[in-house]
Amino acid sequence: MLNFEFKNPTKILFGAGQIAKITAEIPKDAKVLVLYGGGSIKSNGIYEQVTKALADHSYITFGGIPANPEYEVLLEALALIKKEAVTFLLAVGGGSVIDGTKFLSSAALYTGDSPWDILKNGIRTEVGMPFGAVLTLPATGSEMNSGAVITRAATQEKLGMGGPGLFPIFSVLDPTVIQSIPTKQLANGITDAFTHVLEQYMTFPTQALLQDRFAESIMQTLIEVAPRIMANPKDYKAASDFMWSCTMALNGLIQKGVPTDWAVHAIGHELTAAYSIDHARTLAIIAGNHYRYNFEAKKEKLAQYAQRVWNISGEDTDALAHAAIEQTEAFFHSLGIDTKLSQYVSQYEGTAESVQERFIQRGWLGIGEHKTLSPTDVAAIIKMSY
Ligand code: NAP
Ligand code: FE
Repeated sequence: MLNFEFKNPTKILFGAGQIAKITAEIPKDAKVLVLYGGGSIKSNGIYEQVTKALADHSYITFGGIPANPEYEVLLEALALIKKEAVTFLLAVGGGSVIDGTKFLSSAALYTGDSPWDILKNGIRTEVGMPFGAVLTLPATGSEMNSGAVITRAATQEKLGMGGPGLFPIFSVLDPTVIQSIPTKQLANGITDAFTHVLEQYMTFPTQALLQDRFAESIMQTLIEVAPRIMANPKDYKAASDFMWSCTMALNGLIQKGVPTDWAVHAIGHELTAAYSIDHARTLAIIAGNHYRYNFEAKKEKLAQYAQRVWNISGEDTDALAHAAIEQTEAFFHSLGIDTKLSQYVSQYEGTAESVQERFIQRGWLGIGEHKTLSPTDVAAIIKMSY
């Protein structure tokens, strides 16, 4: 096992009815800014529950954070934070609203010229404005980690940020919130969480038996509950397992002591930035081809995954590894998720070259768990995904 440090300070309030408890988690003298997205919380009862819980607090609201949180919109919220002397942020939404809130948490205390520098220059946030979250969409794990991804449409960029100051103080995980999520977004959530596990598991060499088994158990749980959730999001038992799996997939635990890949996400973000394809769908486009391209390096782990997660039997490592890739894509297809770029955009020629160019410009000359995937390799993987 590799050396590691592990600290996750986020308090989780899990279960039906827990939104009411936020009243005790936010300081009484705080000036709260409630942040939300396009308005789903106004029609599914979540907004009502939140405002009822905040009845004894001083709060204002800011809605309209779009999916793939947009920098220009967040700057409007930042201006409001400064004008109203806000001291506590409350994200009510999915990964986009929570990530946007993390950016604001950092930007509110940032003293440099432009808050875009936090993303462009990879500045770690040691201390941010305190914030909590009410999760409305299980998927990203953002509710219990310290990372965020922000989009800037004007320059077609989607960049990550993070730091120990960006853990939510608390997050409410109420599985009943998924009842109003459209099927398409449920499929996205399952796919994103599943790929988070793959990014931390499909690496070589194997360093830690326990982390492997944590990862395998999360993937097995997602595979088991996926058809039940897709058929009936009111199934509370399945919703609970789904929600907790998504959080556990990316709260730092399974990545400790092991190498982590994240090439699928790094490439996927470029497809979202260029074509606005949903985050999870970009991962489904790239994952299988990433493993095909890096087959020799990853085949032992792919074979282990075939046997332990998909219950595929056999002795031949190559055959098992190929079957694992096919099975993974079949799982995405079973959720209604396409795995080819050409199924999302008609004008895809040139994508590989432009992403290659961007990676070179940013100095991203080696990605993956051993930093060995060059921009040329990235372009080759994208071409396989056409
Ligand atoms: P999202 O972009 O937050 O939300 C997607 C859509 O689902 C929105 O239209 C939203 O509508 C709707 N929605 C959310 N909750 C709902 C509910 N309970 N009922 C009905 N509709 C609901 O989706 P996401 O997949 O959670 O987040 C994606 C973003 O997270 C991407 O930018 C991705 O890059 C990022 N990400 C972050 C991390 C991390 O660790 N920080 C990891 C992976 C991905 P409204 O806007 O109307 O609410
Ligand atoms: Fe993701």
